[in-house]
Amino acid sequence: MFYRSIDFSKYSSIKVGQPTEVLIIEKDDEIPTNRYLIGGANNLLISPTPPPLMMLSKDFATIMQKEEMLIVGAAMTTGRIVSYAKKYDISGFEFCAKLPGTMGGMLAMNAGVKEYEIFNILHSVEIDGKWILKKNIDYGYRFAKLNGIATAAKFKVIKGFNRQLLEELKDLRSNQPNNPSAGSAFKNPKADSAGRLIEVVGLKGCRKGDMQWSNMHANFLVNLGNGTFEDAKYLLGLAKKRVFAEFSIELKEEIKLL
Ligand SMILES: Cc1cc2nc3c(=O)[nH]c(=O)nc-3n(C[C@H](O)[C@H](O)[C@H](O)COP(=O)(O)OP(=O)(O)OC[C@H]3O[C@@H](n4cnc5c(N)ncnc54)[C@H](O)[C@@H]3O)c2cc1C
Repeated sequence: MFYRSIDFSKYSSIKVGQPTEVLIIEKDDEIPTNRYLIGGANNLLISPTPPPLMMLSKDFATIMQKEEMLIVGAAMTTGRIVSYAKKYDISGFEFCAKLPGTMGGMLAMNAGVKEYEIFNILHSVEIDGKWILKKNIDYGYRFAKLNGIATAAKFKVIKGFNRQLLEELKDLRSNQPNNPSAGSAFKNPKADSAGRLIEVVGLKGCRKGDMQWSNMHANFLVNLGNGTFEDAKYLLGLAKKRVFAEFSIELKEEIKLL
């Protein structure tokens, strides 16, 4: 293992943070238990004082087929997973296109688009060198209790990459902002949408410093340039307060504040 300075104002998708020493874990290293693991930082908001951080090295960015299973390392990016699935005509991973991140981040978040979620197609996850079957993991909408660091995941190989579905899912993205963001800020409450609620309480387009509730999609917190953690936290708090006051609904963050 070794340390690398990562500038989160460049690395994180929302472009917030500062250069921070991150411990990089290599293949045969014992994974520390006292550090927070980051993947592609597409769902994170890094504060000026984050906890000690670690990251899996490119040793974990692997993908291969073995005995009718696809085995994907936790540091493999979603973009490369989709390219692989397309090349080898494998079905199920179409939704990963346009969903930025790594396999590890997708597993921890049970990331998904519409009815497609990573746990739908998952067979098992490797944690602490042991393969845990999906049925033994507690998971649901945008969460999974992995109880450790995922190093790889297995999926049954099903033939038939669906190009049409890929295009349909890409089109869904056309109503989402291109500014730096961390995706949806809040999880959708049951039978409602966080974006709708934020809009109804008058916060669509609301700005604090260079952070803004997007004009295009109110549940996207976007960075218009020099947005800070404090600005983002203020807007998150404001949305929670107003939505609770008006609807008695407690919005829950999907993005992780570190
Ligand atoms: C423009 C945009 C659009 C997005 N759209 C969607 C969407 O439609 N649907 C959706 O679900 N998400 C969406 N997201 C959020 C993001 O793409 C997903 O949450 C993705 O899975 C994050 O992966 P990551 O590698 O960047 O994880 P990170 O953001 O680095 O980490 C997220 C969480 O995963 C944990 N984690 C990472 N790796 C591991 C591991 N190996 N083992 C255990 N825990 C781990 C981290 O500790 C953290 O808690 C969007 C983000 C952006 C920027």
